[in-house]
Order: sequence, then C-alpha cells, then structure tokens
Amino acid sequence: MEKSFYITTPIYYVNDVPHIGHAYTTCAADILARFHRLLGERVLFSTGTDEHGQKIEKAAQEAGLSPQELVDKVVVRFQELWKTMHIEHDVFIRTTSEEHEKVVQDFFLLLQRKGYIYKGEYEGWYCVPCETFWPESQLDERLVCPDCGRPLQKLKEESYFFALSRFTEPLLRYLEEHPDFVMPESRYNEIYSFVRGGLKDQSISRAGLKWGIQVPGDPDHTFYVWFDALINYITVAGFGRDEAQFSTFWPWAYHLVGKDILRFHAVLWPGMLLGAELPLPRRIFAHGWWTVEGEKMSKSKGNVVDPYRMIAQYGVDRFRYFLMREVSFGLDGDFSEKALVERSNADLSDNFGNMVHRTLNMVFKYRDGVVKKPGAYEDLEWEELLQDVKEKFFLSMERFAFAQALENVWRLIHFANRYIDQKAPWRMFKEGNEDLDQVLYRLLDCSRIVAVFISPFMPSTAAKLWSLIGMGEQFEFSPKIAELEWGRGPEHYRVKHPEPLFPRLT
Ligand SMILES: [Zn+2]
Repeated sequence: MEKSFYITTPIYYVNDVPHIGHAYTTCAADILARFHRLLGERVLFSTGTDEHGQKIEKAAQEAGLSPQELVDKVVVRFQELWKTMHIEHDVFIRTTSEEHEKVVQDFFLLLQRKGYIYKGEYEGWYCVPCETFWPESQLDERLVCPDCGRPLQKLKEESYFFALSRFTEPLLRYLEEHPDFVMPESRYNEIYSFVRGGLKDQSISRAGLKWGIQVPGDPDHTFYVWFDALINYITVAGFGRDEAQFSTFWPWAYHLVGKDILRFHAVLWPGMLLGAELPLPRRIFAHGWWTVEGEKMSKSKGNVVDPYRMIAQYGVDRFRYFLMREVSFGLDGDFSEKALVERSNADLSDNFGNMVHRTLNMVFKYRDGVVKKPGAYEDLEWEELLQDVKEKFFLSMERFAFAQALENVWRLIHFANRYIDQKAPWRMFKEGNEDLDQVLYRLLDCSRIVAVFISPFMPSTAAKLWSLIGMGEQFEFSPKIAELEWGRGPEHYRVKHPEPLFPRLT
C-alpha cells in the first residue's frame, strides 16, 4: 500500500515579521515533503498562521483596523516569503477560516461529551504580550514574564478547563512505548520528566476576549489561543469534514516545532488527542535556535536576519543549503553571512559546481557534447559507493538529519572530482583511449544522480543541472527515487553549454 506522510510547521503568529527561524522550520518541512514525494508517497504539507488572541486585538486597535482587516493585511508577508523560498506547501491554514472554527468547536464538544471539560476559576500571573499564564514555580520575586521580561498581571477569571491531569499516566506509558515520539533524545527526556512530575488541568478559554473562536453555548468565552492553534493539525487533515482525507493522513503526521513551543505540542496536544480518543501523531521534532554572529537575535539589537534580503543577495538555493547543512537539525546554530559565503564557496562552488563544470567542459571538448552509453559499464567501487550513500542518505532523512544526508551526497561529489584527477581524461583523449566514453558517461551519470539527491534541498539548482546534462527541460523535472542507479541515463547524453551553477562569492 502507498504510504502517507503528513508534515506540518507550527502556524506562525500572523503579526510577526518573518525571520530566519520561520524560514528554517518551513524550509525543513518543504525538504521532507519533497523527499517523500520523491519516494512516491502521498504527501500533505501544511503551514499557516495563528490569527487570534489579545495581541492581535490590540495591534489592530493601534492600527485603526478591525482584527480581521489586520490579519488579512499581514498574512501576505508569510505567503509571499514561501513563494520566494520555493516552498511548495499543499495547504496554508489560517485559524480565522470558517472551516477551522467549526473543527475547534466540534473538538471541544467531543471532549465535553467524553467528560473531560469542566468550568472552573483560573487565577494566575498573566503576560499580556505573550498571552500566557505563568505558574508561580517558574517566577521569581520580580514577577516578570520568563519569556519576554515584562511585568505580569494577576488575573482571575472564569474559565473552561480541560482535564489534562487525567492523562499523566497514559501519556507516560505512550512515551515509554514510543521513544521516537519526541525527538531529538534530549527533548524526549525533558518531556518525559515533565510528564512524570504530574500534569495539571489546562484552562482553555478566556472570558471577555472577543477576538477568538467562541465556546459553543457560552458566547462570553473564546478559546485560549493554544487550544485553537493546536487543532489546526487535524483541521488540515480533514477531521469531521473529509473522512477519506482524514484516514489517509492521520496519524501519519510529523510536527516540526521550535524548542520553545515543544511542551504545547508534546504534552497538551497529545493530551487533547487522547481525550478525543484519536491516535497521536507519529513524531514531534523540536529544532534549535539560530543566534546571529554569536548573539541572540532580537528586534532591539537590530540583528534579525531577514530571509528576503538573504535570498536577494545570495539566491534561494544557497540560503536553503546553508540552513540545512551548517547545523545538525535539533541543535542550536549560529548564522553569519561570512559562514554562508565560506560554506557556499567550499561546498557549492569548489566541489559541486566544479565537478559539473569540468564534466560538461570535457564532454564538449572531447566529444562535441554527446556521450554514448558504453557497452561495459560496471565498476565495483562506484557501485558500492552509491549503495552506501543511498542507504545512509535514507537513514538520515528518516531521522531528519539533513546535514548528514547532504554530507553523504557530497561523498559522491568528492569521489567524482578525484576520479577526474586520477583518470586524467585530457590524457586519455590525447592517447585516443576509447575508455574515455566510459569515464565521461560515468561523470554525467553521477551528475544526474546528484541532481536527484539534492532536489529536495535545492529544487531549482537540481532542475537546472538536469537540463544542463540534457535530461529535459527544467520545468519538466520530476525526480523519482528509481533514478538513483547507475546506467539509468539515456543512450546518449546530449549536454548543454556549461554555465556555472554557483559562481564563487567574494
Ligand atoms: Zn511575556
């Protein structure tokens, strides 16, 4: 049976200005979606925006707009960025959509029918900008928000509660049986000990906040933004609306999140699903944060990395490559343009670009741009290398270890560059050695295979390379996993005039 793969990014807070963090998560999701399409699976890739809450209400007031007008205006910043970054999501969900509102209300009623909802009173220290109540255990005598450092307000209000505490034991058992449910391992351990400490019931509604989804039957209450936001993942999958779609994609869901929002995803969300008697997603993966030249990124420091500017200056594929290659996914990383330039020059220009350029040049010089498939085309060293690269590439992609996956592909590139040096095709040409065709065909085949491997990471470069070696037009490029074999190229490679894929940056 065809497999399903459902990949999600968090829905981003719509009034944020998109920065490298948003770009990072969404790029990783795009790469996974493309990789699973390459495998021939049914893929659903979703991103979107979180558009409710007090902060939006306030910002709209300040801007003299209605909340809906504000979110309609600013959502474009994300939608445009994803186009610019060559992100091919299947769905862009907005929490203000009617469809989503209905799912949130239905989901609440379902939890209520199952006896996990009650009305109570919530009192706590609340940060208005962060829309978060903070437990006293996390505060010191200054009573400021642990996230943003601003003073907290004591708030007491009537609220609906979700009986999360009843899922402490079930969730612990689930974690024990599914060690890959939360990744990487350090995050798993963090969540495991948090759950073991015992879960508290979660307040899920706010009285008096207008800009949110109404609690059914109680118009004075709207849902707490996290309750609303998390449910987007099943809205997209078709919950309550499209049973065929829902059974296709749920629970084959993989949530990518920043480590700061892991607890909502790895504790509250599974609790809500257990309450609704729905299966839990396959994996929640928390990636790290980017610092900028060694410093924390912040608006006040003015060092926020603008993805639009990076792409304008370096091109989308250099940016995508750098994000995924520079740091192990899951760890924190440091961004600097210097590092981007160095890595791009070393990996993309000197190694990858050079291999392609030398190959195409030789094919023109020695064979007028056409190389015929050789009769005998076996080479144990190449065979073994490709099998090993493939195996490790797939394993890495399975674990979302993007840097390792790319490193493995570069083993092919390094090997090809050494092969050129050792075989010295310029000498073979002079000596009239007929094995020259075999060498050139191998190098073109290697370029073809590399194009398929890198296509999830650098889709436009892969398509360009595909077209340079004469495999077809760029827009027709639709790579398949079966192409990762020697000898799957055409009877004749008819290549185009070489042009550098990645000119060196200075
Ligand atoms: Zn705060």
